[in-house]
Amino acid sequence: MTPDENKIFDALIRYAEKRTCLHEDTYRGGAIWEICSDCGMKWADDEGGKPKNTGSYPKEIEDARTLLHSQREQPFVDNTVPNKKISLSYLQAQLKKKHDELAKVRDDIRVLCCEAESYLESAEEATSCINDAIDRLSEMV
Ligand SMILES: [Zn+2]
Repeated sequence: MTPDENKIFDALIRYAEKRTCLHEDTYRGGAIWEICSDCGMKWADDEGGKPKNTGSYPKEIEDARTLLHSQREQPFVDNTVPNKKISLSYLQAQLKKKHDELAKVRDDIRVLCCEAESYLESAEEATSCINDAIDRLSEMV
């Protein structure tokens, strides 16, 4: 049961309860009548009088209440629609992970670029040394 369905169900039960008189306050009318002060229902003594079960709600309402309470005790799991909150937080976590991974890759690339640049400088220096050496050698020849 979704939280919304739970609310609707609860409202329906309250609606039914409000319209169900428990006949708690009665008075005697005439010689044989017991009359409810709230709803006016009356029972004749010679027909068994007021039923014994009038102090509680009908079985249908009690059953609905019991069902609603049992539903409330369980955490709501929506099996019909993907849970958007969970999906969203999952995606956010995945995105953050990817972002961190990319940031690390970017840092690695920066380090590699710096290293490559210094190798290049060394190579250029070496080349100019070799060129100098070649020039000197050609002068000697
Ligand atoms: Zn009544």
